[in-house]
Amino acid sequence: MSGTAEAAPLISVENLEKAYLGRLSIADRLTGRTHTVVQAVNGVSFDIKRGEILGLIGESGCGKSTLGRSILRLQEPTAGRVTFDGQDVTALSPSEMKAMRRRMQIIFQDPYASLNPRRTVAEIVGLPLQLHGLAKTASEARDLVAEIVAKVGLKTAHMDRYPHQFSGGQRQRIGIARALVSHPEFIVCDEPVSALDVSIQAQIIQLLMDLRREMGLTYLFISHDISVIGYLSDRVAVMYLGEIVELGTVDAVLSNPRHPYTQSLMSAVPEVDNPGQRQRVRLTGDLPSPLSPPSGCKFHPRCPLATDVCRTSVPKPESVGANHTAACHRLAENLSLLETEPA
Ligand code: SF4
Repeated sequence: MSGTAEAAPLISVENLEKAYLGRLSIADRLTGRTHTVVQAVNGVSFDIKRGEILGLIGESGCGKSTLGRSILRLQEPTAGRVTFDGQDVTALSPSEMKAMRRRMQIIFQDPYASLNPRRTVAEIVGLPLQLHGLAKTASEARDLVAEIVAKVGLKTAHMDRYPHQFSGGQRQRIGIARALVSHPEFIVCDEPVSALDVSIQAQIIQLLMDLRREMGLTYLFISHDISVIGYLSDRVAVMYLGEIVELGTVDAVLSNPRHPYTQSLMSAVPEVDNPGQRQRVRLTGDLPSPLSPPSGCKFHPRCPLATDVCRTSVPKPESVGANHTAACHRLAENLSLLETEPA
């Protein structure tokens, strides 16, 4: 974890929302419903400083990827605002947004699905140069591609090969080269190591850390793996059913998690000093559907600390320390699900 962040935010997300029409079930049709709405992202706000890595953690289906894509307008937000380097991204015209994309990129989870199998590495990585007019000649484009291909640890001699001729880790390196060839400032890393073998994950994480330092990048790093998030992030945002329930520095959130959901995530991570002593908090039930989210605190049907007020009233984020907020009605009681068993 590094603390290279400067004061001014590069990205500001304010009350961002993304809703879309859901599929009607048979029961919906029988009751005469004409449509259903999935509120995938609900009133999310945070800043990311230049040079910072904000880790975004949460279960699969909680809205993390939709949030990342809405920030880049790969999916249009329904409401709220995203400001990048002082510019309101949400107000840009399609042509202005196209130009802005040079500065804001994404690395996808699945390197198999995100690369066109009929294109060579040189063509895949060179496409952003073409789209943004960043090379005057074909030979200049090839030189720029070769430079970034080498930077991500691939052999330039393999630039005319096709994706299927590479391993999973190498394919993710191609995806990273494609994201970085236009020299962006901000990258959404959307579960970039989840589809890879564990032995390869550490190499790709190290590569992303090195590139961040060398190229002065800022990341929103999305993962369901709290160990990965803890290793590389400066700050962490914990997401549950479309909302940020806890936000703060890695040290604050992971050493002193205040939201019961964060505590349940942390309970699955073995303590270095006290291995095997921490009790695993087992949540009952699955993540509820965003089609019919629970009332009040959305975590209440699974929360061991829920009381009546939790079922009716939505908790607002409150400060629980320096640069640390959490949204829970019972913060003042300083309760913890992370009690350890006596040795
Ligand atoms: Fe649990 Fe209530 Fe806090 Fe929600 S508000 S996390 S239900 S204690």
